Amino acid sequence: MTKDEWGDLKQDLLATIGANNFKNWIEPLDFSGVSDGIAQFIVPTKFIGDYVSKTFGDQLLYKIGRVSTDVRRVQFKVSAATSQPLTKTAKVPARQATTRLDDDNLIPAAPLDDRFTFDTFVVGKPNELAHAAAKRVAEGGPVTFNPLFLYGGVGLGKTHLMHAIAWELQSNRPDLNVVYLSAEQFMYRFVQALRDRKMMDFKQMFRSVDVLMVDDVQFIAGKESTQEEFFHTFNALVDQNKQIIISGDRAPGEIKNLEERIKSRLQCGLVVDLHPTDYELRLGILQSKLERYRTQYPELDMAEGVLEFLAHRISTNVRVLEGALTRLFAFASLIKQEVTLELTQDCLADVLRASERKISIEEIQRRVAEHYNIRLSEMIGPKRVRNFARPRQVAMYLCKQMTSRSLPEIGRRFGGRDHTTVMHGVKRIDELRIQDAQIADDLEILRRTLES
Ligand code: ADP
Ligand code: MG
Repeated sequence: MTKDEWGDLKQDLLATIGANNFKNWIEPLDFSGVSDGIAQFIVPTKFIGDYVSKTFGDQLLYKIGRVSTDVRRVQFKVSAATSQPLTKTAKVPARQATTRLDDDNLIPAAPLDDRFTFDTFVVGKPNELAHAAAKRVAEGGPVTFNPLFLYGGVGLGKTHLMHAIAWELQSNRPDLNVVYLSAEQFMYRFVQALRDRKMMDFKQMFRSVDVLMVDDVQFIAGKESTQEEFFHTFNALVDQNKQIIISGDRAPGEIKNLEERIKSRLQCGLVVDLHPTDYELRLGILQSKLERYRTQYPELDMAEGVLEFLAHRISTNVRVLEGALTRLFAFASLIKQEVTLELTQDCLADVLRASERKISIEEIQRRVAEHYNIRLSEMIGPKRVRNFARPRQVAMYLCKQMTSRSLPEIGRRFGGRDHTTVMHGVKRIDELRIQDAQIADDLEILRRTLES
């Protein structure tokens, strides 16, 4: 079949399938020739190729067969030109910068960091649930919870887990199109597609993904049309039973300026959070990093107690912890000295100072009052009605947990109450924490915001 013959054939098709279908599906086809009995067409997206093949494939083959009797099959390939990633996102040098949709179609995925795998992820109490959920999704079995929503504060391993899932899926299920990107990149691409009038391509591209991972979804809060598009993409994929994995810096319901329908959609699947690290987890992470450094710097000497010291003193987030360790090793190897406690304190003086941020009683009272929507004066005042008493006890509990103030001191700051009152309050919340999920949630949220 020659190009001219294809032109005639198209006219023929126009008559049979109608102008609309023709414009949407046949016009975009670019006939590139026949080889080995296969008539080949270049299509702008995989979606169009699939659709044409499914809907008009037989018809096409029949019509082509009348012109060229040797054609047995039609094939649609995605053109490289139109399917370039819409943006460049090479922030980290990655083993593989894009996920391949099929042979030719590059999907606009963000690069994966090859340090972020399950192997390097240290599991502890605060993240075991998130880890287990991530592992499950990474198996690539039947979709059981959709979406998987991972949330937690800065530097607690959300991105690490997302990348780990993507890596593992790529090896467990190479047949799946796994696309990872940040919500910011999603927005950026959406805007660009709008600008370049490529919304059809954009939609098709995202709807032809098998596993969609969107990191830091809070980013699209307040961005209306991006949210709208995200919502449609999300629904289309869920309807097709495709796995979606989302991360955010807080629970879906707590993300401000996020549409209600999106919140509720995000809550439909499994919502798991990464809790702030505890001492054991931090120590575990440091030990695992140390082991990896040892292979890199075999001459590295480290005194007893340094890791424990760091795990104890740097409790903000894992990123800071890692940064501190890296700096320490670099410094020690430069001056060729053993890493001692003293050297650590010297080298990391600023980091250690920054981590010392003390939380004050006033801060706790203010946050708790805000959280329960009461006035600060009501919290500290004498009224014993439950609406005030419970928040007051929560605040006392947090003061006891998060500051080094004594019970009498705390009592004084709560309108001159006796230390036994404080003790009673603390005990009461300690009990309720276990029986009452709402209280447990409140405490968790408050602790998180106070620590951030
Ligand atoms: P988030 O996306 O939640 O802000 P990241 O996933 O970027 O945090 O994690 C910050 C850094 O801490 C990364 O270098 C990551 O590898 C490391 N990290 C976080 N949690 C763990 C963990 N449990 N084990 C090992 N490394 C971790
Ligand atoms: Mg992140």
